[in-house]
Amino acid sequence: MARILVLGAGLCGLSTALLLARDGHQVTVLERDPAEPPQAAQLWEAWQRPGVNQFLLPHLMLPRWRAEMDRELPEVLHELEAVGGLRINLLAMLPPHQRGPWRDGDEAFETVTARRPVLEAALTTVAAGTAGVTIRRGVAVTGLLTDPYSRAPVPRVTGVLADGDHTLRADLVVDCGGRRSALASWLQAVGGRRPAEDRADCGFVYYGRTFRTRNAALPECHTSVLQRHESMSILTLPADNGTWSVVLVTSSRDPAMRALRHPARWDAALALYPLAAHWRDGEPISGIDVMAGIEDRHRDFVVDGDPVATGVVAVGDSWACTNPSLGRGATIGLLHASGLRDVLRETGPDEHDKLVRRFHDWTTTAVQPLHRSTLWYDQHRLDELDADAAGVPYQADDPKWAFNLATFAASRTDPDIARAYQSLASLLATPDELLAEPGLPEKITKLGGHTPNYPLPGPRRCELLAAIDT
Ligand SMILES: Cc1cc2nc3c(=O)[nH]c(=O)nc-3n(C[C@H](O)[C@H](O)[C@H](O)COP(=O)(O)OP(=O)(O)OC[C@H]3O[C@@H](n4cnc5c(N)ncnc54)[C@H](O)[C@@H]3O)c2cc1C
Repeated sequence: MARILVLGAGLCGLSTALLLARDGHQVTVLERDPAEPPQAAQLWEAWQRPGVNQFLLPHLMLPRWRAEMDRELPEVLHELEAVGGLRINLLAMLPPHQRGPWRDGDEAFETVTARRPVLEAALTTVAAGTAGVTIRRGVAVTGLLTDPYSRAPVPRVTGVLADGDHTLRADLVVDCGGRRSALASWLQAVGGRRPAEDRADCGFVYYGRTFRTRNAALPECHTSVLQRHESMSILTLPADNGTWSVVLVTSSRDPAMRALRHPARWDAALALYPLAAHWRDGEPISGIDVMAGIEDRHRDFVVDGDPVATGVVAVGDSWACTNPSLGRGATIGLLHASGLRDVLRETGPDEHDKLVRRFHDWTTTAVQPLHRSTLWYDQHRLDELDADAAGVPYQADDPKWAFNLATFAASRTDPDIARAYQSLASLLATPDELLAEPGLPEKITKLGGHTPNYPLPGPRRCELLAAIDT
């Protein structure tokens, strides 16, 4: 069994540590932010986590995340519910005429979700009580240690350097340093090549606000958690302890929408959407949290057929991250962490070159398609928002996009298609799996193929601009 350093105690870092420790590895998690989670009642106001920009921004855990957690780490879900995490069924939340009567298998749409500080606190409690996991907070990693005697053609990482010239050695370093991970520069600093990297501003801006119930009831869901409208998407996300969040998502190339950073204008905008307006009826427990400049980034650590280094791998956002409006980051990260655990069962960290190659191959086959499909959706949606701002209809020369829109439109009237749509949104099925279901594509095209581009009730762009005074 190996000594493993996990860099970062975020959602993927803690999940990775738990999965690896359960297999008997000795795992030390190094986290730059010094603060331990405070008591449950103070998590939201008091926990300082500057290392995670999106710490107070809304998060929804998808049913696929819940299913993987149930299978791999059920005690995380128990702990999450014990501190107020909300168990909901994303299909059952829909109005009865959309979902029809309960069917066997509908339990797959269940998830347990919470605000981000509550999620991290639950993971921390379980990790801290797990044999083989040590969490050290206030330790900022600054670089990599390598084996000076290695004859391998690429650096062999044997540990990390941390603030104050500490050195920590390990059989394997797992970077879970998130979106801003410095791993590429650290590799260069020890004489390695940089990983192959694609990066670009994802082009979306988030305007999120979190509320607490005034009367013990959460707002009713009149449609799916993600609503697509002209010039704006809306996310309505239930969370723990009687809280929820609403996020307005716009294109960063649409300056008129920047007015949404002002609470009164944000409120005036949301009031225009009949299926979302009632999500304002609570006590706000945040201002308008704005996040822009969010990067889509993907890194390959095997370049031209060879690893850029051995002894180190990247998991979660450090490997790849996207615009988060589909809420997939934690799920993809958990799948990625389970994949590393599985690869380590067959290939020990002492098989330096083989381990990096096998993990790369597994990543490319199993999780990269999820990353790519998220980018595909984002690109269309961004182009559509930009077309809205320019006042021209969005003409996508891509039948898959038209099929995607038809699936959502038809899901509003047909319970079979409601399940198909929720399976896609929950990462429980792939588009190809749905296309292969006998009769389903034809039904989707028949019921949803001729509906307006924006089937949900909402204002036209000119009405939205008037309401937010721009
Ligand atoms: C606005 C927004 C909303 C989102 N909403 C959702 C959602 O609804 N559902 C969902 O599944 N995902 C969502 N995501 C994505 C999700 O937040 C990420 O996928 C997830 O946090 C990735 O976990 P991670 O552990 O890889 O990185 P992070 O959670 O970012 O953690 C990285 C950790 O590494 C630490 N660290 C960094 N550098 C160092 C260093 N040098 N030394 C020591 N420690 C270091 C940081 O302090 C941090 O704690 C959202 C993201 C954003 C930006």
